[in-house]
Amino acid sequence: MTVDSEDPDALVQLSRTERKRRAKLKSLPTWGESPQQTRARRTRLIKDLALQAGFSRVGIAQAAALPENQAILEQWLAKGMHGQMAWLAQDASRRCDPGQVVAGAQSVIVVALDYDTAHPRTNQVQLAAEGRAWVSRYAWGDDYHVVAEKRLKQLELSVVAALKPELGDHFRGSTGPIKPFLAVRDFRWSVDYGPVLERVWGQRAGLGWQGKNTLLIDPVRGSFFFLACVVTSIALDPDPPQTDHCGSCTACIDACPTQAIGPDRLVDARRCISHATIEVDGALPSDVAKLVGDQLFGCDICQDVCPFNRFSQPCAEPAFEPRPGWFAPKLSAIFQLKDETAALGLTRSALKRRGLAGLRDTALAVQQGRLKP
Ligand code: SF4
Ligand code: SF4
Repeated sequence: MTVDSEDPDALVQLSRTERKRRAKLKSLPTWGESPQQTRARRTRLIKDLALQAGFSRVGIAQAAALPENQAILEQWLAKGMHGQMAWLAQDASRRCDPGQVVAGAQSVIVVALDYDTAHPRTNQVQLAAEGRAWVSRYAWGDDYHVVAEKRLKQLELSVVAALKPELGDHFRGSTGPIKPFLAVRDFRWSVDYGPVLERVWGQRAGLGWQGKNTLLIDPVRGSFFFLACVVTSIALDPDPPQTDHCGSCTACIDACPTQAIGPDRLVDARRCISHATIEVDGALPSDVAKLVGDQLFGCDICQDVCPFNRFSQPCAEPAFEPRPGWFAPKLSAIFQLKDETAALGLTRSALKRRGLAGLRDTALAVQQGRLKP
């Protein structure tokens, strides 16, 4: 059978075997292809597959050790600024060297997943007047770990299927997320628990720059997106790194209610409401509890004031739409919740990290703050 490969209707009519054969041929190195052409072809293929898997954007950086970032990370850790995120203190040198995550690492593929939805920002809702509190935008819908992992798995399977014929049987995917510090496979992914500095790689891969609030900012999309990284032994063409566009703006520093953002682009997690209301086990630290304001779970203030988020477009991703009752919930509703999983619908939700007892504790702090004259 001959078909015009540009004709989509004709392609649909191809048998499954023929489509598979063509897909395989497409992934094989063309005779006479130069190493640069092979790299460019594999780069295009992987970027296409990442978008097909459902990611919003993809960028690539050349894998390399990051001694400067390691020094900054170690200073931050030495000052105890990581708060209760003890896992960040585990083996900073591996965290800053992808070669210790994947033996022979050549590239870091960084994928972005937008989560902004068409709902107001923190400062556009009369929270106190209506007896409501704020849940961070990222936690309104499904747990992003679950959403991103599914797509990363799909990406891994399609890359392995496409490239194994030319890379050989030794080329293997991760068969799951990165286990901390295991350097045995060729395509290892993680969503934010792996030993990878995701924002640093995001900037290097051209997906944004690290703003003064330390979050990665895309000049058009703003900062409401999740990041995930794949460390791989496949050599790929890197993208140009993104440059800094914060300029003289200090909106995030000025708006932070706890002065957690330092002048040196470091956030002191011990002062950060987001850290306290998500990561802290048990009662809120008293100094943060006094300043918690309207924040029930997480805090979006330093993102909501960022000018680059002013014009970001909703992503039309149903998974990240607020679950019923979780956009600015009533405090009274939080106090009435009884059963952790059923009442909160916490299955597959990022809210389960703090749990019902923790949410109630924070709700109490919000309420007490409002009673003060
Ligand atoms: S999340 Fe909130 S408390 Fe933390 S740095 Fe941003 S504005 Fe400050
Ligand atoms: S608010 Fe201003 S300083 Fe802060 S991250 Fe956004 S652009 Fe940069």
